[in-house]
Amino acid sequence: MPFCNGCGASCSDKLCSNCLDTIEHVCVWLNTLELEPGASQVQIKQAFRDLAKVWHPDRFNGDDRVKGRAHEKFSQINGAYRLLRKHSQIVIFLENYVRNHQT
Ligand SMILES: [Zn+2]
Repeated sequence: MPFCNGCGASCSDKLCSNCLDTIEHVCVWLNTLELEPGASQVQIKQAFRDLAKVWHPDRFNGDDRVKGRAHEKFSQINGAYRLLRKHSQIVIFLENYVRNHQT
């Protein structure tokens, strides 16, 4: 029985159904960080750092309305990054998959 490349569970395909679901989420989280599917861990870290600087709510002190929007964006960026790190096996799988299927 082969194993899932994402979580190591035994399954009949390269990825179990759980991990296939997670891939869709990973694409959304990558999009939040303004990245394409297939981005490397290094690219993810850089994008997170850049965007966290751009959207840090402290930059918008004195303008509560804009600060509120920045806070929302900052939370999204943080959340996406945290989840991408948590599911790094899937991120790596996707990176390899995209690299191997590039024309
Ligand atoms: Zn799996």
